[in-house]
Amino acid sequence: MMGKEEEIARIARRLDKMVTKKSAEGAMDLLRELKAMPVTLHLLQSTRVGMSVNALRKQSSDEEVVTLAKSLIKSWKKLLDASDAKARERRRGGPLPTSSSKEASEAQDPSRKRPELPRTPSTPRITTFPPVPVTCDAVRNKCREMLTAALQTDHDHVAVGADCERLSAQIEECIFRDVGNTDMKYKNRVRSRLSNLKDAKNPSLRRNVLCGAITPQQIAVMTSEEMASDELKEIRKAMTKEAIREHQMARTGGTQTDLFTCGKCRKKNCTYTQVQTRSSDEPMTTFVVCNECGNRWKFC
Ligand SMILES: [Zn+2]
Repeated sequence: MMGKEEEIARIARRLDKMVTKKSAEGAMDLLRELKAMPVTLHLLQSTRVGMSVNALRKQSSDEEVVTLAKSLIKSWKKLLDASDAKARERRRGGPLPTSSSKEASEAQDPSRKRPELPRTPSTPRITTFPPVPVTCDAVRNKCREMLTAALQTDHDHVAVGADCERLSAQIEECIFRDVGNTDMKYKNRVRSRLSNLKDAKNPSLRRNVLCGAITPQQIAVMTSEEMASDELKEIRKAMTKEAIREHQMARTGGTQTDLFTCGKCRKKNCTYTQVQTRSSDEPMTTFVVCNECGNRWKFC
């Protein structure tokens, strides 16, 4: 008998696969299954099924799928809102809300429903808080999509292992909160982030956002001068020596080899460079880039 968490995680994985394959066949069954399940905030955060459903919603052209996915996301968003409200209440030290919050507190406290078995440590998921608020606003979702695409420029995100969808949602959320609507100012703000993140002459900005050296809050409000190119001292500071070496390697080429197997595409067509990243008596660091899929990694 599968636990709720595993069950939802399994559905999330199947939905992800559909998105990858661009085929939503059978999606309705999975979404209906989800609809019938009492999903709690805890389960949402641990399985991140919301992201999977949202990805499917964005891709699917099947109206039935989109409608059901939207209604799921909407009902989950209520859980988030309820927990936000509760957290605010707690910070204020006020009395716990009495009537309307029953549902919310039940959803928030997984221990009440589940007699918890010692959980087998499966793949650990990194859960960052606070969760990214889901939005049903078409303009905002479109902007999130474009930011995601911008962050994925040149496949740097693969090497960093960054969750671009999550990052872009956080950035968009910060912009929206700062501006307060999706009018001209909001659109201009998003547009300038997009062009700077995609700027081939300024990969360090994107890399710093991907690795977290520049936070979503920061990139959301940076001026054009602050974002533009290496002149910016803060970005220089944030850039590690290794990032610079990697950047140099990307330009100078390195040596092609069939010695390494790419962990992503399993092909043996890579380019590598060895560099002294620290002091001269320490071992060299080898940077490898896959010529087939752009995957990057390094080892000492
Ligand atoms: Zn590869």
